[in-house]
Amino acid sequence: MSSPAGDGSSVRRSKRRAAEVATAAITGSSQEPKEEPVELKRARSAQKKKPAAPKKSESPPKAETDPSEIVASDEGLEAGEEEDEEQAGEAHVLARASGVSPMKKRIVAKRKSDEEDDDVGFLGDPIPEEEAKSRWPKRYEKISAKRVSITNNGQDDDDVKAKQHYLQARVDGCTYNLYDDAYVKADEGEANYICRIVEFFEGCDGQPHFSAQWFYRAQDTAIKDASSFDDGKSGHFHDDRRVFLSDVTDDNPLNCLVSKVQIVRVSPNLDLSSKRESIPPCDLYFDMSYSVSYSTFMNMPIEEAENGKLAPKSAVASGSSTSGQKSQLLLLDLYSGCGAMSTGLCLGANLSGLSLQTRWAVDFNPHACESLKFNHPETQVRNELAQDFLAVLREWERLCQKFGFVNEDVSPEVDSSDDDEGPYEASKGSPGEFEVGKIVDMCYGETSNVKEVGLKFKVRWKGYGPKDDTWEPIEGLGKCEERIRDFVRRGYNKNILPLPGTVDVICGGPPCQGISGFNRFRNSEAPLQDEKNKQMVVYMEIIEFLKPRFVLMENVVDILKFAKGYLGRYALSRLVAMNYQARLGIMAAGSYGLPQFRMRVFLWGARPTEKLPQFPLPTHDVVIRGGGPVEFEHSVVAYEENQHRDLKKELLLYDAISDLPPVANDEMRDEMDYLTAPKTDFQKYIRLSREEVMNLLPEGERPSQKRKLLDHRPLRLNDDDYQRVCHIPKKKGANFRCLPGVMVGPENKVQWDPNVERVLLPSGKPLVPDYAMSFINGKSPKPFGRLWWDETVPTVVTRAEPHNQIILHPEQDRVLSIRENARLQGFPDFYKFFGPIKQRYMQIGNAVAVPVSRALGYALGQAVQRKGDDKHVFILPPDFPRTTQSDNID
Ligand code: SAH
Repeated sequence: MSSPAGDGSSVRRSKRRAAEVATAAITGSSQEPKEEPVELKRARSAQKKKPAAPKKSESPPKAETDPSEIVASDEGLEAGEEEDEEQAGEAHVLARASGVSPMKKRIVAKRKSDEEDDDVGFLGDPIPEEEAKSRWPKRYEKISAKRVSITNNGQDDDDVKAKQHYLQARVDGCTYNLYDDAYVKADEGEANYICRIVEFFEGCDGQPHFSAQWFYRAQDTAIKDASSFDDGKSGHFHDDRRVFLSDVTDDNPLNCLVSKVQIVRVSPNLDLSSKRESIPPCDLYFDMSYSVSYSTFMNMPIEEAENGKLAPKSAVASGSSTSGQKSQLLLLDLYSGCGAMSTGLCLGANLSGLSLQTRWAVDFNPHACESLKFNHPETQVRNELAQDFLAVLREWERLCQKFGFVNEDVSPEVDSSDDDEGPYEASKGSPGEFEVGKIVDMCYGETSNVKEVGLKFKVRWKGYGPKDDTWEPIEGLGKCEERIRDFVRRGYNKNILPLPGTVDVICGGPPCQGISGFNRFRNSEAPLQDEKNKQMVVYMEIIEFLKPRFVLMENVVDILKFAKGYLGRYALSRLVAMNYQARLGIMAAGSYGLPQFRMRVFLWGARPTEKLPQFPLPTHDVVIRGGGPVEFEHSVVAYEENQHRDLKKELLLYDAISDLPPVANDEMRDEMDYLTAPKTDFQKYIRLSREEVMNLLPEGERPSQKRKLLDHRPLRLNDDDYQRVCHIPKKKGANFRCLPGVMVGPENKVQWDPNVERVLLPSGKPLVPDYAMSFINGKSPKPFGRLWWDETVPTVVTRAEPHNQIILHPEQDRVLSIRENARLQGFPDFYKFFGPIKQRYMQIGNAVAVPVSRALGYALGQAVQRKGDDKHVFILPPDFPRTTQSDNID
């Protein structure tokens, strides 16, 4: 691989660095790649790169050396945690390693020495020249032209050129036909590779070659060692006979063929036991393709596998198709927080013409649930642990079956006629006696009156109202069968809980606090054994139980870095083992129209009968900093290097918040008037009402009610901090370093100025606190840092204290308000937050940036409606998200 000559330009230098990183991935260089800023344009063809046939002397690469063993970085930050100062370089993208796939190269090993190769050669006549040239034109291009040609992604075209092609070959007594599947010798100690023979040809070097299209075992894909695991419970394993057809082909010497292997193509099926029965006798089978790009596991159109041996029709049970069009799709938001992810998904789906509604949401934080409930009155919000929710789901299915309500053909209809609010009966029972009036809810976890975990029902006592409801364990309700039946009937009709097969989409990000850079006890050997990472398992179990049509998981990028990316691989592995299609992408929020960087991982899953959603390409030309794991570089959602793009200018803090009225540190109002008109397009859009955003207003009608500005109040700083903030100058880059007595010494480290006496506040505390001086060894400019109007915020976090993050308003002596943070996360202004101030900041900092989930929702809507092509990524409409109401916003 050649690197461009150093020419002094930063972009070229960055590219070369990226190439070096990639080389390290392949050669096993132990040098840890530095996360240097690199250019976003990417050579998308890396996975198409055909590794050259090995020279005899070539030592096999140690591809296993994992370049992603970069310590978990800032993206896993919890509240107030610090980002790595060293990563603060800026550049216009995360590079794609130029040219070489970080996937393991199939370097085949010759089976035996050349002297023994008498029994290696082609059989029959060559394929007529004209036919061969039309089938494999590149093989016959002029060598001279080839040698000078550099393909448009900057790589040498190293195809072996052909003299002639054949249909059959013989190796070591075995006859192979074109399109046979075969084992290919791998290096000593490694399992044979598996391929489909897609060409037999004599090279211009006079040697016999074949071209291999590789099949990957689960462990050869991005899943790697997560193909089998111990999650402390059952563990799961991929079927050893299942392989995935890749889009990678290589040329190899003919004598590398070891033996034939019988691989049949079967249809993927969520029902694993009927799938097992459908597989005819064979050595191996495949039902999906695998592509290194976006770690994609996907169904193949029949023609793509035309040479595959599709199992006989009768044996190909294809799983019940659920893709019939429903008027409204139902979403379950797990670990929902205040509901940003599902809000965005529903908005985006709606813009694509699909009605999607958050039907159920689960979170154990009562304040987050309150916010979600207020903003989504139609949602059944469950304030409980996800693991208890799963237990409730199992019990609910059992009850629905017991009482005969589960009817496979009829989904429950939402029936809101019967609410649970009123007292059961006006008259009370006799004094001292309590009679179960009706059951109004069920749960599994601890409740205020019953600590034991187990199935409980919420009882409305006869003659009493909702405030006297109590939770009662099922064991005490032995005589209430009728009441329970009645509850299940009403609950079933109101669709209070999902049943297997009734959920269209599950979204959510299982928290993995066990990988946080600040968790000193993180378990990198067995991340799933860490209680703090267990939710990943719970999340997958809920998916396994409910079998939704689509899944969208979100998480911090550290799940692809910590413990060699084990948690990310595990998620992918579970989905694929359940026979879901899957695709993994890394997206930066700023690329979708926010003045915030924030990189996150998203994993799509889709039942085999569905179209796998794509990833939406960036809409904004944002300044992105490094931080993506090298090994998952193929998953960064970005344009290809030479692809035409029409990106809007990046957004800055001014665009997002400059229209908001000034407020003081001690502002107490939750509602106020806007006072000024919006100044930017962003502000116009973010101020739209729910009806406008959802396009629910009748044509030409504008919302009449003048709306209030909500939650525009900051975390109130204590007197000392407020005094400190008042001393920070109102200029770009200002922070505690501007205060008297602080000097910046060598290596950008702060030190006390010996000539200045330490300034004290009226309370007697120092103006410059010690923790600011010692933070990150005195090298951080973050304590009491002011944002400036022309900046992009790195990542909105869950806390608002100014001690270790830049969160001061540019021109006011306070931290950014709840609303300002909400704007930076793309929440529409109509979204109201509940709970104490710190809890509201937390809900916002935890959220998936709404513009990102909105773009993903559009992708989902397209997939449901089977719009778009089969590519991994797509371009959003030019005016997105204003596709339907552009004239409403002026
Ligand atoms: N996706 C959300 C943000 C979720 S943050 C959004 O876009 O707004 C993660 C959430 O998981 C937090 O609100 C936290 O309260 C919740 N959570 C953490 N552990 C949980 C558990 N075991 N069960 C249910 N919720 C949990």
